[in-house]
Amino acid sequence: MKAIGPIPAGYKAIDGELAIGGVTASALARQAGDTPLFVYSTDHLRQRVADLRAAMPQRLAIHYAMKGNPFPPLLTLMNGLVDGFDVASGGELELALAAGVDASRISFAGPGKRDRELERAISLGVTLNCESEGEVERAIAIGVKLGSTPQLAVRVNPSFDLKGSGMKMGGGAKQFGVDAERVPALVKRIVAAGAQWRGFHIYAGSQALCADAIIAMQAQTLALVEQLTSAIGEPPRHVNLGGGFGIPYFPGDEPLDIGAVGAALGEAFDALPAVLTDTHFCIELGRYLVGEAGVYLTRIVDRKISHGEIFLVTDGGLHHQLAASGNFGTVIRRNYPVTIANKFDVAPQEVVSIVGCLCTPLDKLSDQAHLPRADVGDLVAIFCAGAYGASASPANFLGQGPAREMLV
Ligand SMILES: *Cc1c(COP(=O)(O)O)cnc(C)c1O
Repeated sequence: MKAIGPIPAGYKAIDGELAIGGVTASALARQAGDTPLFVYSTDHLRQRVADLRAAMPQRLAIHYAMKGNPFPPLLTLMNGLVDGFDVASGGELELALAAGVDASRISFAGPGKRDRELERAISLGVTLNCESEGEVERAIAIGVKLGSTPQLAVRVNPSFDLKGSGMKMGGGAKQFGVDAERVPALVKRIVAAGAQWRGFHIYAGSQALCADAIIAMQAQTLALVEQLTSAIGEPPRHVNLGGGFGIPYFPGDEPLDIGAVGAALGEAFDALPAVLTDTHFCIELGRYLVGEAGVYLTRIVDRKISHGEIFLVTDGGLHHQLAASGNFGTVIRRNYPVTIANKFDVAPQEVVSIVGCLCTPLDKLSDQAHLPRADVGDLVAIFCAGAYGASASPANFLGQGPAREMLV
């Protein structure tokens, strides 16, 4: 038997079944017309943003970094809940605009922006988080060609990283951002060229659960902002402090203490020098906002035994939930939180492995989990599916195609 990750708070049983947004899993599957499907909970998303705002200093704006979940109805909902959107491609930019996000509230990061993506962003007045000197030069030239002033922030590659982070995105040689020591010269170049300098974007990592690690990273980020400000001789209008807030996926993971993070950030803001009084600060979060609000539902199509071990074979798999199979940025495969959705209040009775329908041994959704007895036709629920699920999985692998998605 292998442990499973913690089921996120807020999921309850109705009539013995897992319910999302007050609707049972089997009713959701009927409504969707077929399985597999991703279900995202409006209540969960609202509550998450409300709790976060209550914990963070008022001065801090909250942005949604949409790469974890670009489902259009979810974007529309998030547009009413957060202060800004961070996109990382021209495709995400179009999705944000289609969801009604005002261009002035969008910033666009990511290496390798093509000229046509820069043109679109500049003509709309979207802030570009520039990843290199070369990108700044292309943006300036495009601004001249279009006759519009580019809004340019500089993404800084800090010399530190986020400790305990699942994915390090700062510190040392990186494809992201401009090394901190070259930033003052680049900002001066932006200002001299007549572009609008919007400030800094400093992103040091992702998926941290330790409040002290985030507090330390934010303190280092603010110290770097102070240092850059004095080297430039002018304060930034905006500072994006990055994100990195993680969610518990695996056995033993504890939720991040956002109360501690918010209190420390409030104190750090109070201690800032007067020159930064008018600077706007934001954080950009993806999975923390949406990850636990999503559940992946897949139906059991076969139950078989091999060498004494029980396998539940489902109509889903890694082509929708790559991360749960352990093949998306994890070194050791561990079990995501999982349940038999239509037996949510039944005590565990047997040890089973849950696999997908793909012809590869990688397609394992849960390994030797202790669960209620399940049969063909029952529904498996994989939690923590609201981020890096549908959009981060190879849906076309083996000709399977995408899962359905719904916001309830
Ligand atoms: C991926 C990414 C995010 C979102 O990360 P999460 O772990 O989903 O919060 C935010 N900002 C940048 C620059 C990113 O690359």
